[in-house]
Amino acid sequence: MAVPFRRTSKTKKRKRRTHFKLEVPGMISCPNCGEPKLAHRVCKECGHYKGKEVVSK
Ligand SMILES: [Zn+2]
Repeated sequence: MAVPFRRTSKTKKRKRRTHFKLEVPGMISCPNCGEPKLAHRVCKECGHYKGKEVVSK
């Protein structure tokens, strides 16, 4: 079995882990009310999508 030749440095380890973060993808803020919402979904706060109201409260 292959064994790493060198110990991974702190910097290298940390740089690799910059991509390893807790983040919800596709979250944007609503252009109408500014609430955080999922991209390509109707905003659940104001019911707007693509600049007009599609779901009324
Ligand atoms: Zn909204």
